Amino acid sequence: MIKNLLHFEGHVSPGHALNPLHSMDELGKLGRMLTHYQATDLWELDTQRLPAPLAKLRRHCRQFAEQFMAPNVQKLDEAPHTEPGTLHPAALHLLKHAGRAGLMTNLLPAPLGSATMLDLRFPTAFRFAIQVEELARVCGGQMLLLSAHQLGLAPICLSGDLRAIWKFVRPMTQDFIKGIPHLFAYAITEPAAGSDVEDGHGALANQPRVIAKRQGRGYIINGRKCFISGGDVARHISVFAALEGEGFESWTCFVVSADNPGLESLRTELKMGMRASSAAELSFTDCYVPADAMVGGLRQGWALNRATLNSSRYPVAAMAVGMARRACELALEYCLQTQLGGKPLLSYQEYQLQLAQMIAETRAMRALVWQQASGSLQSHQAEASLSKFFATDRAQAVCEMGMALLAEHGLHNHEGMEKLLRDIRLTRIFEGTNQINRLAVIEDLQPLLLDRLAGQRDTVSV
Ligand SMILES: Cc1cc2nc3c(=O)[nH]c(=O)nc-3n(C[C@H](O)[C@H](O)[C@H](O)COP(=O)(O)OP(=O)(O)OC[C@H]3O[C@@H](n4cnc5c(N)ncnc54)[C@H](O)[C@@H]3O)c2cc1C
Repeated sequence: MIKNLLHFEGHVSPGHALNPLHSMDELGKLGRMLTHYQATDLWELDTQRLPAPLAKLRRHCRQFAEQFMAPNVQKLDEAPHTEPGTLHPAALHLLKHAGRAGLMTNLLPAPLGSATMLDLRFPTAFRFAIQVEELARVCGGQMLLLSAHQLGLAPICLSGDLRAIWKFVRPMTQDFIKGIPHLFAYAITEPAAGSDVEDGHGALANQPRVIAKRQGRGYIINGRKCFISGGDVARHISVFAALEGEGFESWTCFVVSADNPGLESLRTELKMGMRASSAAELSFTDCYVPADAMVGGLRQGWALNRATLNSSRYPVAAMAVGMARRACELALEYCLQTQLGGKPLLSYQEYQLQLAQMIAETRAMRALVWQQASGSLQSHQAEASLSKFFATDRAQAVCEMGMALLAEHGLHNHEGMEKLLRDIRLTRIFEGTNQINRLAVIEDLQPLLLDRLAGQRDTVSV
């Protein structure tokens, strides 16, 4: 290890008269105030610029992830594939602590959840994006285990159905406070309908296969859902089913309890990444649910699904930011610690150029996600979708750059870079593939574009 290196190639040392840090320090008091220049950790800078409640949340989540997730990253990634319904002891431990730390319940304020009134000044999707970035930076799989739960809760909260919120959300919060994991999952995907449950055009041409039929005062549900994150370990599942004889436009959301005898977890997928979180295939066989298991009313499911995705796509974009940031950190550390010709790699400008590109891309993603999510009190599909596809695509490119820098060292599981690549790829598939999210941007603009075509508008600006 080289000690006392005064500068990297192509730069003057921080104490040199030509270095901005030194030269601006020599200015008079007022000049120093106007040109304020300090060597600052960029994460710290971003955190300081956030409003106080969000800065607090960001620091809390970072500290939580480093304390409770970091020790389990490899253990959970390498754990053997288990039977559906089995939680690894490390995952159970994580869930208990995440519950006590308020990270599973902070969509809503007390007594329904753990958000404070101050938190509620900021859009939920923005708060959640900040949270998810910190968790994803440490482990994509553990982050998904925690975050899929909030996805399962979202349709209940977004329905505005106070009866359903009181019935389902409050007991969940009380359990988590006591350290009892009480997970929710979100079930829209069917074996024959992935993109078609996220896109109106596809839904129009396809037939739903999970069907709810009226029986007595309730409904019986039949069919299968697949790839449901945490579906085998959740206590409740928000299931979207079509009414008998009708199409996806009749979708209705039912909360199905895990102990329902008509529900079975058939298997979990052996995924390439995010292995700490399961993806379950669920079977519903004459699964009876009482009428009060319905959320938001009959035929409200399609709207609830689209509204849920409009808010959950920001956190998915933030997952990508967290993983890209980790790739930057790993690459920086590698270039500091590894020597070439007796100097750290970072001394060479080729490496500096690559690292600067990775850092810029990551910060551009975060700027996009924060800018769009901070205005998302009533979320716009186009903004959520473009954040999702742009950030996840570019984050994969950043992880590839990181892998190129680490070369063969990047292939080792313990280095973390190969896991980032496996994890980031999944974010480009779920919550709508990136193709579907691109189409969603145009779908949102369609009314304006059609008006323009009919001569009823002068222009459509973006
Ligand atoms: C890790 C993981 C976790 C998941 N968690 C959940 C969950 O918790 N709950 C849940 O319900 N689902 C979940 N899913 C499912 C996920 O949302 C679907 O995989 C996704 O919507 C894509 O569906 P599909 O895989 O069936 O692909 P398909 O819909 O079969 O698409 C195949 C290809 O065709 C393209 N395509 C499809 N339609 C169009 C079109 N109209 N125009 C252009 N291209 C098109 C797609 O982009 C894709 O490239 C999860 C998936 C993964 C990988």
